[in-house]
Amino acid sequence: MYTSEHLDKLYDIELVKRDIAQYSLLDSVEVLKSSFADFYSKELKVCPSCVKEDGLHKSVWQYTSTTVCEVHRTSLVNTANLLALDSCEEEQQETLLSFEVHLLSLSCSERELFANKLMTFAEYVFRPFDFITAKLKLREVSVAFLRSLFEDVYKLLCCKELIYVWEELILTHRENLNTMGVLVTHYGINELKAQIHSFNVISGTTLVCEAKRILLKYHDADFDTAIYVSTHRFDNGVDVNNVSFQVDGVMLSKFLGIHMKSIIYMAMQNTFTAVYLCKQPDKSFFDIQVVESLLSKAFVPSLNIQQTESFINISDIPKGIYDLFDLTIEELIDAAVSGQVDSQFKVNTTVSYVNHLLISEAGVKEVLKNKWQSMGDVKACDAIKMLKINSNVLNKLITEGYLVLTNDKSRIDADSIRDFVSNYLILNRKANFEKARSCEKRVTGCCKVEPIHQIYMSPKTTDFVLYNKADLNDCCMQQLQSRFTHFNQQKVDLSKDVITFQTK
Ligand SMILES: [Zn+2]
Ligand SMILES: [Zn+2]
Repeated sequence: MYTSEHLDKLYDIELVKRDIAQYSLLDSVEVLKSSFADFYSKELKVCPSCVKEDGLHKSVWQYTSTTVCEVHRTSLVNTANLLALDSCEEEQQETLLSFEVHLLSLSCSERELFANKLMTFAEYVFRPFDFITAKLKLREVSVAFLRSLFEDVYKLLCCKELIYVWEELILTHRENLNTMGVLVTHYGINELKAQIHSFNVISGTTLVCEAKRILLKYHDADFDTAIYVSTHRFDNGVDVNNVSFQVDGVMLSKFLGIHMKSIIYMAMQNTFTAVYLCKQPDKSFFDIQVVESLLSKAFVPSLNIQQTESFINISDIPKGIYDLFDLTIEELIDAAVSGQVDSQFKVNTTVSYVNHLLISEAGVKEVLKNKWQSMGDVKACDAIKMLKINSNVLNKLITEGYLVLTNDKSRIDADSIRDFVSNYLILNRKANFEKARSCEKRVTGCCKVEPIHQIYMSPKTTDFVLYNKADLNDCCMQQLQSRFTHFNQQKVDLSKDVITFQTK
């Protein structure tokens, strides 16, 4: 089986091209579509001895992971011209490497499995301390590069203490991220352990110092960035030591306990800069050191955390709150992370080491108040969301003069909405997080003040009740629960080593 690239290479050779045409040589040859081409090396690989004997190219050589000829037990070589191989001297052939010797000692079925696993594991070895495991385009590298990479991978797997050596090097490398917690510093180590475990360490012949040397070599080497799949990682230039601190949007979302949409929003607001930013968080790249330094500017470790109960986990704030104030969760998080309002960053909470962002109740109120005061004229659909009403009620409020349309009648005047909310009390289920009817009973029952409007949408529930605030006494107002009491209860945190960072 050949890819179209291979055929192009064959056609490049004039004699071959003529033979193919003359004898219809390729009529029974299957040409691979590009998606399958990933499994085959781009450059032609050959065993010089085989070619010398029968002059034929074997398709099995083209498998990306294949480096040896099983017949001659010799390594394959790259060639641009099959016919030129005749002049190749026998002594130029390389001796087999230890991984190739091991490979040839296996049965046919084991051989393929082993070669594929070496290829998978090579991606872990390549820049071994990075947060992102590099996807490699191994089909584009030379046989010589592939052999030296596989040999190093094999040597590593022959070190019994490999996982300990590797883990220690990773933790040393990420030392300056300790304040971000175990979730960050230990990221990927469990997956790595599982990978190593699946190989069942072939034999314990590699020394610890040798394993260390190989890992460091692959971490510091200045490799051609063209062999990586995700090229945007290098948009800031190729500083090998900086690349290792890059994370994608999905990782950063986990690290901060913040939804991915908010991560992208903050990068767009320049709260922090991204190495590469796009709408798909998994394809966006960030430098975790930059994020860490931003956090350390806004937050300091807090020893007295007695005020914890007045801090709200971002994910516990009900969606309805945002609608009421025409605020987005992204705006709120941006204010918290950049330290504009009091917030806490909790590291290593719960047994699975989760990090959370919390905002003080006062901070949330401040953001909501600012948003409310700076609000411009709103569209009818947004007014419906903010007041938790429907279009019938909205039209009624407009005809009765409670709300005012803008001159061009396209929007509702922002001041009229602000005046309305400060002078009138609306009760309904969505706005108060409880049934309007039970709310209404308590308020009306207190000093027997009747509402000025009631709209029933079904016989059992009152969906919209309106009081004039001037008619209500303080005691009546107190019959309403604070919206904040309806937020989800904080879960008990059983973890022992939570570090709380609070805004300065
Ligand atoms: Zn051969
Ligand atoms: Zn009262």
